[in-house]
Amino acid sequence: MDRWRQPIVPLLIEPVNQVLLLPDGRRQAEVQFVLSEFDIMRLRAGYGCAKCLQVFERPWPEKCPVCGAPIRDKQAEYFAREYGGVERFGPSTTLADERERLREGG
Ligand SMILES: [Zn+2]
Repeated sequence: MDRWRQPIVPLLIEPVNQVLLLPDGRRQAEVQFVLSEFDIMRLRAGYGCAKCLQVFERPWPEKCPVCGAPIRDKQAEYFAREYGGVERFGPSTTLADERERLREGG
């Protein structure tokens, strides 16, 4: 199977201390995916949805067919916001650092 078509599987899913208010009024707890470098690269290249991790047949569809996220217009922006500190995903990151960061954020 083509590597680029393999499902994106997070190494870890961490709850983030904030709640997203959806346009229709529902509240959704946000989580942060901890991904492998390859998966991050795929998201950055537009091959997957940064929101629900759906892998696309072709990169940069207008919208994610699963969650409806506006991939072509917004993913680069979303990606920069959510994954701006890519080094956080590197081997130097410790869980303690992550907890500290979450505490500060809350
Ligand atoms: Zn999606």
